[in-house]
Amino acid sequence: MSAGRDLYDLTILGAGPTGLYAAYYAGRRGLRTKLVDSLAELGGQITALYPEKWIFDVAGHAKIIGKDLVRNLVVQAMEARPTVCLEEQVTGLEDLGGGLLGLRTNKAEHSTRTLLIAIGIGMFTPKPFPSPEINAYLGRGVVYSVREKEAYRDKRLLIVGGGDSAVDWALNLEPYCRQITLIHRRDGFRAHEESVRQLKASTVEVKVFYELKAVRGEPTVQEAVIFHNKMKAEEVLPVDAVLGCLGFSSKLGPVKEWGLTLDDDSIVVNSRMETNRPGVYAAGDITTYPGKVKLIAIGFGEAAIAVNHIAHYLNPAVDPFPGYTAAPELAPARAL
Ligand SMILES: Cc1cc2nc3c(=O)[nH]c(=O)nc-3n(C[C@H](O)[C@H](O)[C@H](O)COP(=O)(O)OP(=O)(O)OC[C@H]3O[C@@H](n4cnc5c(N)ncnc54)[C@H](O)[C@@H]3O)c2cc1C
Repeated sequence: MSAGRDLYDLTILGAGPTGLYAAYYAGRRGLRTKLVDSLAELGGQITALYPEKWIFDVAGHAKIIGKDLVRNLVVQAMEARPTVCLEEQVTGLEDLGGGLLGLRTNKAEHSTRTLLIAIGIGMFTPKPFPSPEINAYLGRGVVYSVREKEAYRDKRLLIVGGGDSAVDWALNLEPYCRQITLIHRRDGFRAHEESVRQLKASTVEVKVFYELKAVRGEPTVQEAVIFHNKMKAEEVLPVDAVLGCLGFSSKLGPVKEWGLTLDDDSIVVNSRMETNRPGVYAAGDITTYPGKVKLIAIGFGEAAIAVNHIAHYLNPAVDPFPGYTAAPELAPARAL
């Protein structure tokens, strides 16, 4: 791959909250930036997994619905006028010489002076129910994510799972549904303590040591057969919808082969968000270092750290500390 003439200062791989904020911040530092993501939509995990969920721990918002946060992030990022390339899966990363990098995807070759990897948990898909018969109801009442809360108004919903996703959806959908039952195969929840406390105080019927055995109904779900995994007793619940929150599997894909120092599928970075490869930085959920916490707020901070150090890396005469922001206008995208 040759550098070509379409050379960018910074290419950001991953357009979740971290990548979007990094794109905006790169504009503030005058970097010509490109944003690449394998999904068709911007917003990462928020868009794909919980667009309708309330988020309570982002600075500046006492609470905000996921899709609204993404909308704000996209508006902010687009002020910086990054080139956006969606539905592109990365395949390779080459050193082109002269401090240039070549990022290869299934659709294009991107030449860049630096790369910021913000791929979160990698390419992710929800874990399905093990039963093909249950999965045959996908789109007919069985779902793995909620796109529109309104679609659940007055419905009887069964939620399966015991993590944050299951508990958060139970709380978020409580005002919409006629009735929610949440089943979990153990009695301990992996969700945030405060959310579990709220769940116990809510109208959601929580049944522990229960698993989903089957769903029935034509053409859509009308009942769910659940069973108590200790007593081995079955129960039939009349339901209109089943939400599976069994976690998700993710894969780093080719990024694993790029010679980056990894720790348990996370990229090891230093306090400047540099990886072990010159010109390659990482931020957000994909990174690890002592004390790392994987949250949206942390991704924003890491994006700002990374971009400021990238600006300095590209032009050592530029101070990593940007000074304090004043005017809202952004420098037009230009090469440093
Ligand atoms: C159910 C649930 C609820 C949550 N609630 C909260 C909350 O209330 N507060 C909070 O702070 N955090 C919450 N989180 C965590 C939060 O979503 C993450 O910390 C945040 O999304 C990380 O942002 P990111 O941009 O680093 O990664 P992601 O959001 O994962 O975005 C990464 C992007 O990279 C893309 N990508 C991945 N691999 C590739 C590849 N090989 N090629 C191209 N593109 C790729 C993905 O498609 C994705 O768009 C929650 C998570 C879940 C699952």
